[in-house]
Amino acid sequence: MSKPFYITTTLPYVNAEPHIGFAAEIVRADVIARWKRQNGFDVFLNTGTDEHGLKIFQKAEQFHLSPQAYVDSIVGKFKELLPALGIIEDANFIRTTDPHHIKAAQEFWRAVSKNGYIYKKNYSVKYCVGCELEKTESELVDGKCPLHPLQEIETINEENYFFKFSAFQKQLLDLYTKNESGLSFVVPDTRQKEISAFVERGPQDFSISRLKEKMPWGIPVPDDDAQVMYVWFDALVNYVSAIGWPDDFVAGKSMPGSFKNWCIDTGGMVQYCGKDNLRQQSAMWQAMLMAAGLPTSKTIVIDGFITGDGGVKMSKSLGNTVDPIALVKEFGTEAMRYYCIRELSPFEDSPCTPLRFKEAYNANLANGLGNLVSRVMKMASTYLDKAPEIPESSIPVEFVQAIEKFDIQAASHVVWRYISEADRLIQEKVPFTLIKTDKIAGQAVISDLCARLYAIGVMLNPVMPETSKAIMYLVKENKMPSAPLFLRK
Ligand SMILES: [Zn+2]
Repeated sequence: MSKPFYITTTLPYVNAEPHIGFAAEIVRADVIARWKRQNGFDVFLNTGTDEHGLKIFQKAEQFHLSPQAYVDSIVGKFKELLPALGIIEDANFIRTTDPHHIKAAQEFWRAVSKNGYIYKKNYSVKYCVGCELEKTESELVDGKCPLHPLQEIETINEENYFFKFSAFQKQLLDLYTKNESGLSFVVPDTRQKEISAFVERGPQDFSISRLKEKMPWGIPVPDDDAQVMYVWFDALVNYVSAIGWPDDFVAGKSMPGSFKNWCIDTGGMVQYCGKDNLRQQSAMWQAMLMAAGLPTSKTIVIDGFITGDGGVKMSKSLGNTVDPIALVKEFGTEAMRYYCIRELSPFEDSPCTPLRFKEAYNANLANGLGNLVSRVMKMASTYLDKAPEIPESSIPVEFVQAIEKFDIQAASHVVWRYISEADRLIQEKVPFTLIKTDKIAGQAVISDLCARLYAIGVMLNPVMPETSKAIMYLVKENKMPSAPLFLRK
């Protein structure tokens, strides 16, 4: 029986068009999902949309739509991103307005409340709607959120429910000492250090509800009609409602044993998220799971941001945003995946501009990989009588080690090192000349090149699945590609 593996992205807010940062996050999660599947795991990949909250309520008002009509009108843009990015077809897409999710969020609240970790109090706090986070004075610069300098900080005075985050300091610190085959709980290590330091300073209880009259777009708090859940007890719960908590309903169908299979038998979920979600996913959510009596996650992988040139934050006003769908239309799905995986750091901020994209495409796909496939297969189909024996392709250990540590960029560098080595071999041995004087030696070099190309195809499977398939097919059939794999742009 194959082992289960559960991986999830965060859910982007539907208050704006899908962002390149989200595109990169889901491509990364998909690479890991495909890699696990290639290695015999049964995989559940979860993504979707976060559809409640004040930002969405305000946005819907701008368009003179009901919040539900607004989110319904925009969710299609997020769904169509999945096939455009070549995400596995059976990826789960959850909406936080799904009836099953709403029921699960209320059930989750009840469980935490029953265990004594929810209480009500009067309070006043500064709040950044951009971050959906409460801010202390020390986190503000000139009274503004440094991440959202154009938005006013709101002051909220009301009676709300609170989550006893402070009760979980020790348990969280214990969780962080967990070491899965050399990996820290949060990947990379630098982010683990950051969150450990945050928890060591002492987690503060945070508010988890709002007055319904002020914020009507949210899931009702159980047994209190005047309050709705605020972000965390709604959106974060999707990671367990998606896999069938509490009643084994998945994507609208009854799937007995589903939650146990994906959440417990896997040893915990693997979560991808941006660095702005570090605290929410690796501390707040873990404490919430503990409070509800559910298993904690296995690994949290923290992405960097995608920036404009020179590390400048992308923004509409600067005109340096990049539309992932436009790039896919011009360069194709496989090129988009390539850029997200090899040209962007998996953990740190890195830039994406249309010019950088085009240069990387021409240098590494049209010239690098595409050209190698054409050259090798032209020689093979001309000078070999049949496809050569391909040795049982073993994936290089450095590739395996890198991808198992979620360093998919380092794994893809192994592939491009193989490409350079094959190019160098052609230059040094000149097989198309050698074959005219020594047929056996020439054929041996070409067969070796075919084997190398095949290994490249196998490694590319999780990264660029269509290209991988095409390369393995051409080598096995001993055929030239009918057209270049990547046309120069
Ligand atoms: Zn902010």
